[in-house]
Amino acid sequence: MKTYLEQAEINGIELTNHGPCQFCGALTEGGIHECQEIFNLGFEHLDYGKEANYEYRFMAVDAHTLQHPEIHGRWNNHFHLTRQHLMFTHHIPWGYEKSPLLSNILNTYKVKHPNEILTPPPIGQRGMLNTVKIKEENTGEKNCRALVEQWGNEVYHSWYDEHQIVEKIAQLYLMRYY
Ligand SMILES: [Zn+2]
Repeated sequence: MKTYLEQAEINGIELTNHGPCQFCGALTEGGIHECQEIFNLGFEHLDYGKEANYEYRFMAVDAHTLQHPEIHGRWNNHFHLTRQHLMFTHHIPWGYEKSPLLSNILNTYKVKHPNEILTPPPIGQRGMLNTVKIKEENTGEKNCRALVEQWGNEVYHSWYDEHQIVEKIAQLYLMRYY
């Protein structure tokens, strides 16, 4: 798997290493690198190792990835937006065992839609919450969960124009596994 630095280069994106994050607008001092670091470290009060918090980890990963699609491979958008769609619209509780199943579905789908690209919402219009806000605003586990869920929802809704496409992939998943 490529690092975000390699992926940005492939996508022809120059990364800014100072000021706010150029993708989500988070008020960092070190740009995307700091935004990525906050994300990698996780949020205080939210222990992703606890089973009850697994779902919030998926929500955070999806939200951050879809807020920063320029530093990911294009099929990542399909994967993360479909997972959000399954969680937020179809109310499927997510678990670690489900992601490889969704990857299988997506791999089959890709063969039939090799050129399909999801178009990200414009930069600055991918939800109001971001890594820095959640880091600064969260006051405890319950509150941090709510913020992460809100973050996921905001990013998910900002990708509204692509929901019809991921609904097709979600249906393939639901028909196969439910
Ligand atoms: Zn960011």
